[in-house]
Amino acid sequence: MRKKHERIWENCLKVIKDNIPTQSYKTWFEPIKSVKLEKSVLTIQVPSQFFYEWLEEHYINLLRKTIKSELGPEGRLEYSIIMDNRNNRNPYSIKYPTTKRKETGNPSVNMPININNGSSREIPNPFIIPGLQKIKINSQLNENYCFENFVPGECNSLARSAGFAIADSPGTAFNPFLIHSKVGLGKTHLAHAIGLEVKERYPDKTVLYVTSEQFTNQYVEAANNNNRNDFINFYQMIDVLIIDDIQFFANKEKTQEAFFHIFNHLHQNNKQLILTSDRPPVEMTNLNERLLSRFKWGLSASLGVPDIKTRIQIINKKLYKDGINEMPKKVVEYLAMSIDTNVRELEGAMISLMAQSSLNKKEITMEMARSLIDDFVKNTKREISIDFIQKVVADFFGLTINEIQSKTRKREIVQARQLAMYFSKKYTKSSLTTIGQQLGKKDHATVLHACRTVNNLLETDKQFRSSVQELEKRIRL
Ligand code: ADP
Ligand code: MG
Repeated sequence: MRKKHERIWENCLKVIKDNIPTQSYKTWFEPIKSVKLEKSVLTIQVPSQFFYEWLEEHYINLLRKTIKSELGPEGRLEYSIIMDNRNNRNPYSIKYPTTKRKETGNPSVNMPININNGSSREIPNPFIIPGLQKIKINSQLNENYCFENFVPGECNSLARSAGFAIADSPGTAFNPFLIHSKVGLGKTHLAHAIGLEVKERYPDKTVLYVTSEQFTNQYVEAANNNNRNDFINFYQMIDVLIIDDIQFFANKEKTQEAFFHIFNHLHQNNKQLILTSDRPPVEMTNLNERLLSRFKWGLSASLGVPDIKTRIQIINKKLYKDGINEMPKKVVEYLAMSIDTNVRELEGAMISLMAQSSLNKKEITMEMARSLIDDFVKNTKREISIDFIQKVVADFFGLTINEIQSKTRKREIVQARQLAMYFSKKYTKSSLTTIGQQLGKKDHATVLHACRTVNNLLETDKQFRSSVQELEKRIRL
């Protein structure tokens, strides 16, 4: 006899299966186990924190709907996370209310609006004079998103150093600080890191992280209840205010206006503002001019796509943090090479791989990685990048990327490097200087020389020609 919670979860899975691609279902839903059902709360067990975050971010609506259709309007889901982390073996669970009811005093990450720490979620009395009485709030910061876990690289060097400077003396340097980038490149992570660091250095400062959606919802609720002033007063008491994804303020005139008041007050009182957005200020056409002009007072820094070395470090850091050391080096390089757009996807691929291996009780192999990556990138026809070429060339000659980039004059390594330069010139739009930079910090003359050498050899050396053709096939695959 199946237990009731198992049957309920199986029913949910049937619906979910019909609504998402098979690969996603396999990756994200098959590893889940149902644990128990208490009243209308179904607890499911997920393999890691990341897994939980991924589900929340990508499937929360679907989960909410299916849970409610199985358990009625009171139906809720609770996650139990198995921590395979060396440092923290305690399993803990995170509550996610799938009803609109707000939880309070909950230690969770990613919680919906839950500003006060105590049992009441009232916005403090507007007559409290700011500064005289410190308010205690839940900062909504995720401890995992700390500086220590944020891998430095050229892609983030300005933003990261500015972040440190701000954490060191909030409200004085770079105010407001705007972090912008495409999705999945670390804006949220960096914003949390600054908040956490401020709390560490200045325990008395009130730090608050909110998403712009939370901010907007709170505002709307406050306005509906005639509490607009309370809302504004509350925010004006924060020392470091972090608002994530402010592009969502677009076209929300009233919310922007409230934010404008809060912004001015905080700025005048040397309180720090940290904002993130998926685009630079010049492209925020749907934000009020007054607000946009304020952004120019501070610093805006972008996060770029990490280069291959940084991507490898990010994977290794994550593996280390999760206490996993059985991922072969080749597989790590392969993942980093194949997924070169976005850190979140990189992490997603990694997690799928680990999930697959633990499900099938098999060690992670190159084959497994290849077939996973094939599924992952099949539909997104990739542009051939220097990183990609470099990796294919390295594989072809049985070298590592570090060897290709090293200063060595060993013949076979020099030749591999020259071929990587030749193909980069042929297949990417990058300049000779860029190619040289990425392939061992060489100058443009070296790249030019490499291209000439390869061309000469192609004309004169038959054996060379046939192996270059073989290599070229792999690059164009
Ligand atoms: P964004 O807010 O720009 O969409 P996130 O901050 O959510 O991106 O980052 C996506 C994932 O990538 C997160 O899990 C984050 O920890 C990770 N990540 C991004 N950049 C780095 C980095 N430099 N070092 C380590 N992890 C990173
Ligand atoms: Mg984000």
